[in-house]
Amino acid sequence: MNISILGSGTSHGIPVVGCDCPVCTSKDPFDKRMRSSLLVEGGGVSLVIDTGPEFRLQVIRAGLKKLDAVLLTHPHADHLHGLDDVRPFSHKKAIEVFGNDATIEELKERFSYIFRITQEGGGKPRLAPKTVTRQFTLGGLTITPIPCKHGELDILGWYIIESGAKSGAENNANTPAGRGILYLTDCSTLPLKSQTLINQPEAAIIGGLREQPHPTHFSFAEALETGIKTGAKKIFLTHLCHNHSHKEITRYCAQFKKKTGIKGTKIAPAYDGLQLALY
Ligand SMILES: [Zn+2]
Ligand SMILES: [Zn+2]
Ligand SMILES: [Zn+2]
Repeated sequence: MNISILGSGTSHGIPVVGCDCPVCTSKDPFDKRMRSSLLVEGGGVSLVIDTGPEFRLQVIRAGLKKLDAVLLTHPHADHLHGLDDVRPFSHKKAIEVFGNDATIEELKERFSYIFRITQEGGGKPRLAPKTVTRQFTLGGLTITPIPCKHGELDILGWYIIESGAKSGAENNANTPAGRGILYLTDCSTLPLKSQTLINQPEAAIIGGLREQPHPTHFSFAEALETGIKTGAKKIFLTHLCHNHSHKEITRYCAQFKKKTGIKGTKIAPAYDGLQLALY
């Protein structure tokens, strides 16, 4: 299974329009952050988690040739409004779009033109929206929605494992164990029940907005502590704002490791274009 970070930025994207702060004007390519999204390729399936406003540019840059599904975390604009651009991928077959009930309802409202009967040849993507509440399979991937809170909003994280992958000890018949990937963005609370669905992911990509606390997002420390609780081998911070450069977040991660005495866990900021081959 291969994963690529298509975007690692918060809702504004970095640089923020009109901002001349040191991060927004930085020459370091690691400080350019498109809206947060992840590409997962494995088990014969290509899927993206979230389709933000830069979806088209992101998949062109990644050289993506096919897309089977979209997993949505929640319907905020920075995670959804590039969805129309899945159109070229949907010519042969409708793209399945998975989310929780509220997200799928919002999707149908925002993109109502897609679901209205209109003349043939109109430029619309073909979508098959699906509400999910429990684990399902897609090709060789086993996918588990992870309910979490984004402030007061009920949203989803996603835990994905290639079904044929060697796994560690099963702690729950419904819980794929070990070597999966966890994607958890825009989360401010991960309920205990949801924690039991996750078992030692190979990599956890977790939204941590900034060092300071925020009412609807994890801070860096909260995101890292959450990642450590899941037993992840590698933790990457994503959905990053313009308060900190890539270099500063890298330093923060090193200090966090030192302070907490965590050993054997890789902790780093995500960046646009980061690729991981998991197995
Ligand atoms: Zn967001
Ligand atoms: Zn800025
Ligand atoms: Zn959000």
